[in-house]
Amino acid sequence: METTDNSRPLWPAGHRAALCLTFDVDGLYGEANSRGQDETYWVSQTAYDATGTERLLDLLADTGVQATFCWVGRVAEERPDLVGRAVAKGHEIALHTWDHRPYNRLPDDEQRVDMRRTFDTLSAIAGTPPVGHKTAGWRYNAATHEIAQEMGLSWVMDEPGGDLPYMIRPETTGPPLVQLPPSRFFDDYTYFMDQMLTPQQTFECWREDLDVLRAEGKLMCLTLHPFVSGRPGPSRAVAHLIDHAIDAGDIWIARADHLARWWLEQK
Ligand SMILES: [Zn+2]
Repeated sequence: METTDNSRPLWPAGHRAALCLTFDVDGLYGEANSRGQDETYWVSQTAYDATGTERLLDLLADTGVQATFCWVGRVAEERPDLVGRAVAKGHEIALHTWDHRPYNRLPDDEQRVDMRRTFDTLSAIAGTPPVGHKTAGWRYNAATHEIAQEMGLSWVMDEPGGDLPYMIRPETTGPPLVQLPPSRFFDDYTYFMDQMLTPQQTFECWREDLDVLRAEGKLMCLTLHPFVSGRPGPSRAVAHLIDHAIDAGDIWIARADHLARWWLEQK
């Protein structure tokens, strides 16, 4: 899956590894789709999403780091002011479906309509057309990436096929897409929702990952959620990891679109 040409530089000069922070702004639609709309205990937790987004935007501003926000279209439409704040702070806005339905259960044409509607809405609110896509809950199928390619996107973030970006070309005559590998191990939901770990324990897991990947010259691609990592204590796990990466001095902390562009230019 992952191939590396040893003659090419993996990262821009001065950097030996890379870190990508992505924030999935699901609103209530993630929990409503995965657990059911009547699961009010879980769905109600997501009412914190806007507060968490504001805290995380402040945290990123404090550290001067730029990140990627994968925004559910319907949530962006409900709170365009938050999208505007993220754009004003230099963050990337990417597609995360219209209302967090799993694409692996949608017919191809419904996926296409869903992705296009999200693209149009985010383009209008953000003022720039998105170039990346992350499927809701990493529930995708072959059509998902064909449609992303057809729409002219440059990156997707669905398949953990290694520790480096890699090219995919779903339609062989079309342009390449960069797959930026996510991981359940790099997902705040795993640590704070599936389990209930402390911010320190979560930070330690991620620090170990980042240290190994830094030594190997690779990429860590985090998936974070404002209603999870935007909570007071858990936000410290993110802050500690950013501080750790900055202190290392040679980790490229980059938006997904910048990583994808770099990867495409080096091919
Ligand atoms: Zn999501």
